[in-house]
Amino acid sequence: MTEHFDVVVIGAGPAGYVAAIRCAQLGMKTACIDQWLDADGKPALGGTCLNVGCIPSKSLLESSERFMQVRDELQDHGIKVAGVELDLATMLKRKDKVVRDLTGGIEQLFRANGVIAIHGRGQLQAGKQVAVTEQGKSESRVISGEHIILAPGSSPAQLDHVALQGDVVVDSTGALEFRDVPQQLGIIGAGAIGLELGSVWRRLGAQSVTLLEAQDSFLPMVDQQVAKQALRSFTAQGLDIRLDSRVTDCEVTDKGAEVQYQIGDENHYARFDRLIVAVGRRPNTADIAADEATLLLDEWGLIHVDDHCKTNLPGVYAIGDAVRGPMLAHKGSEEGVMVAERIAGHPVAMNYDTVPSVIYTRPEVAWVGQSEEALKSVGTAYNSGVFPFTASGRARALGDTDGFIKVLADAQTDRLLGVHMVGPHCSELISEAVIAMQLGGSAEDVCMTVFAHPTLSESFHEAALAAHDRAVHIAPRRKRSQKGTRKTR
Ligand code: FAD
Ligand code: NAD
Repeated sequence: MTEHFDVVVIGAGPAGYVAAIRCAQLGMKTACIDQWLDADGKPALGGTCLNVGCIPSKSLLESSERFMQVRDELQDHGIKVAGVELDLATMLKRKDKVVRDLTGGIEQLFRANGVIAIHGRGQLQAGKQVAVTEQGKSESRVISGEHIILAPGSSPAQLDHVALQGDVVVDSTGALEFRDVPQQLGIIGAGAIGLELGSVWRRLGAQSVTLLEAQDSFLPMVDQQVAKQALRSFTAQGLDIRLDSRVTDCEVTDKGAEVQYQIGDENHYARFDRLIVAVGRRPNTADIAADEATLLLDEWGLIHVDDHCKTNLPGVYAIGDAVRGPMLAHKGSEEGVMVAERIAGHPVAMNYDTVPSVIYTRPEVAWVGQSEEALKSVGTAYNSGVFPFTASGRARALGDTDGFIKVLADAQTDRLLGVHMVGPHCSELISEAVIAMQLGGSAEDVCMTVFAHPTLSESFHEAALAAHDRAVHIAPRRKRSQKGTRKTR
């Protein structure tokens, strides 16, 4: 007899495992199928994020930043340290342990909540049935669900003319595993992965880090005032970011990866001992459903869903990287919660306008809501306030004054429309703006809030004050007012 569940989830990344836990918490009999195997061939929950994404990359970013601080920055604080050495093997081992502890933690959460984990591959069939091929078994069995949640995630995009090769040409997963520090590191793509992993290896001692980026603008999805500041800071750190660069060929020889690329009409050549391909990710949807299931995909292979993550099939939902929207762990997790609640009959909706984004470089780049460019393009009148970290007492004490916080508020209603940051600890600071925006707050609300002194958070306060021409700790800027566009304060 076919085993029947209230909910069957395919995929245990941050979208799928959170959906499964919430469904179980809401009293539903839930199974979660996942096929991920770790380097030892053992099942590991958590998907890309925990195994080869957010967590290992942040572990290396943290370790490499500490190494760099001890090596290069402590003397400014009057601390003399001699004989600083990198023990990369220990650093990588630590990263692997952080991953293992967290993936094991999800297994425990599944057990504690009564989620049944099935290690293997799942495929949606017609009629809300799922064919399951468990690890180590060749035969598949069929289970069914009153509701099905598809959360198969994504994998690194490949380039036709740049084949991955051993540890010389790698994707983001390989770039978390280099056994020695690359000397001449090349990266194709100056997006989140390229910048974060490029920073890791530069801090650990790579002589050169060159990022070849196809687009002619840097971080086009980011407010351009922030992007410009970030580009200046990254360049000063030795990240050589070459925009408008199109790689046309790559050959691995005994000299390393030999790359031909074009900037405009000019041909260029570069040789790297390691090359990372970081040109985005593609949804894992090729085999997620049998043809008879008639699941609708869009032209990019994303599963077609509405605002509530319903697919074209009744009772079938899809969430996370496999559907439209930013490929971010927290976005997928919140979709998982929304779908679980809706299955339980609670009419909740997710606010996509307040999903924050962060790039975990130094300085960190973080934003929520609309950029100045986006507001201009639709003719929304807004007020803008900027506060630089050079004017923050806490940033001075930290010795980390690169960057600023910028607040954009509606010129008529004063409602916060966007908050953009580049600077120290912005990955944490951005949540203050997210909460303010989620609660429908205005710049005035932020102005009227008391912030502890001395904190970096005060810079958010001051940026909101600046949007009202009331910043205390910077000299007033000359006003420029334009109807329908910007009123600079
Ligand atoms: P995934 O995490 O990809 O999980 C999908 C799971 O489903 C996988 O385990 C997969 O094996 C399994 N699966 C797929 N098909 C099947 C099937 N047919 N049967 C059974 N199982 C299946 N995002 C952030 O928000 N912050 C970050 O700091 C961040 N850093 C990143 C760093 C790197 C290097 C990378 C690569 C990504 C990073 N991301 C980050 C992106 C983040 O990892 C993804 O957005 C997130 O993992 C997507 O979650 P998901 O659950 O949709 O998919
Ligand atoms: P991305 O989309 O952030 O950046 C890819 C970059 O590669 C883009 O700038 C693109 O223009 C460029 N590119 C594409 N094709 C190219 C080519 N042929 N030659 C040169 N450049 C090319 O993707 P990513 O950095 O690979 O990251 C993948 C996903 O993972 C993203 O959606 C990202 O949001 C997510 N991620 C998030 C974080 C974070 O939240 N901090 C960190 C890492 C990854």
